[in-house]
Amino acid sequence: MTLPLMRPPRKNPVKRTRQMNVPPWARGRVALHLTAAAAEGRFELQVCADCHTVQYPPREACVHCLSPRLQWRAQSGSARLLARTTLHHSNDLFFRERLPWQLGLVQLDAGPTLVVHLHGDVGAVEPGATTRVTVGARLDRAGRAVLIAFPTEETPHMADDTVLREMTCDPKLRKVLVTDGMTPVGQALVRALAKAGADLIWVGHAEPWKRHGSGLDDITALPPVCLLPLDLSNERSVSTLAAEIGGKVDIVINNAEVHRSYGIAARRGTDAAKAEMDINYFGYLRLAQAFGPALVGRAADGTLNACAWVNLLSIYALANFPPHGTFSASKAAAHSLAQCQRAELRGAGIRVVNVFPGPIDDDWNQNLPPPKLSPEALASAVVKALRDGVEDVYPGDVAQEWLERWRDNPKVLERELAAGG
Ligand SMILES: [Zn+2]
Repeated sequence: MTLPLMRPPRKNPVKRTRQMNVPPWARGRVALHLTAAAAEGRFELQVCADCHTVQYPPREACVHCLSPRLQWRAQSGSARLLARTTLHHSNDLFFRERLPWQLGLVQLDAGPTLVVHLHGDVGAVEPGATTRVTVGARLDRAGRAVLIAFPTEETPHMADDTVLREMTCDPKLRKVLVTDGMTPVGQALVRALAKAGADLIWVGHAEPWKRHGSGLDDITALPPVCLLPLDLSNERSVSTLAAEIGGKVDIVINNAEVHRSYGIAARRGTDAAKAEMDINYFGYLRLAQAFGPALVGRAADGTLNACAWVNLLSIYALANFPPHGTFSASKAAAHSLAQCQRAELRGAGIRVVNVFPGPIDDDWNQNLPPPKLSPEALASAVVKALRDGVEDVYPGDVAQEWLERWRDNPKVLERELAAGG
């Protein structure tokens, strides 16, 4: 039975700190498909189009008939446990710091036999009985897919398992910075994080004089919330805050954005576009430069280590939506920067989570027809992503549909958007 996660004792500064290592991460190109699916929370394996064999590990050809026609297909993960073992020694530095570690041998109902990590609540292997498990794919601290077996039924405090927490970024008992508390999305995020058990939530607000009637007072009443001045357009404001709290933040959620609904011809001059870039791109860059090194420094810091960076992007980052043209361009720039940040933070095991919502039900999208994503639905998608440890999230029907069309053919989507959607 998993014990509920308790607040650890205060850190003894004299004691040795855990080394900052990530698990072994070299994988072949084919195996990266497993990672690409796990990054969105799916467990996929190769299935042969000719003989329907499901295979693992990933290969270039079917293990049964040598056909190269292999397709990645979602798996239920339904399996039985064949054997289990406890690792007490490892030459790998990451696992050496985290021993003992539970491993198991399972056979998927779909065929292949796999070595997997074991959730602590998976039962023993009894002679004459079958222990059923559900195998899922998760990203490890190095950002690569690994397989883990769960009990088939939900157990109490399941998310608090020590093996699983090495793969997720659960906000429970962690300290979180939400960069903008003035918006409905920021306030929904704060409420969702408080409900998820965050220890402390710092909430940035850029324009304190506008506070009255903004809803900020309601979230300030929540016990873990602490309001702080933060203006992403001002480098000094960002670095002052980083000096104050940078060494304590475990999760950064950058939700600050400027959104105007202009294309190129709808407005003369570049002032609106510059304001969008200054928060959505340069503001993110300022924040990443100020808070990134502090997160990296605490990436291996015990049970409540620094673990994640969340970017509120937009589905328009993938393809420009002409009625919101300059906003789309600023989000595309932020998306590109997030790919750079993900590469830079990978070595420390900090996960960069990109969120790509469709139109949000807020003032800037009031001229768009429904369906629109409510701030509450967006906030719960962000918390779920942290709990599940995924790194790309497309919340809501509109985002899912755009993603499908973009994956199918980006050029076709571009033409459809040019013709009005
Ligand atoms: Zn085959």
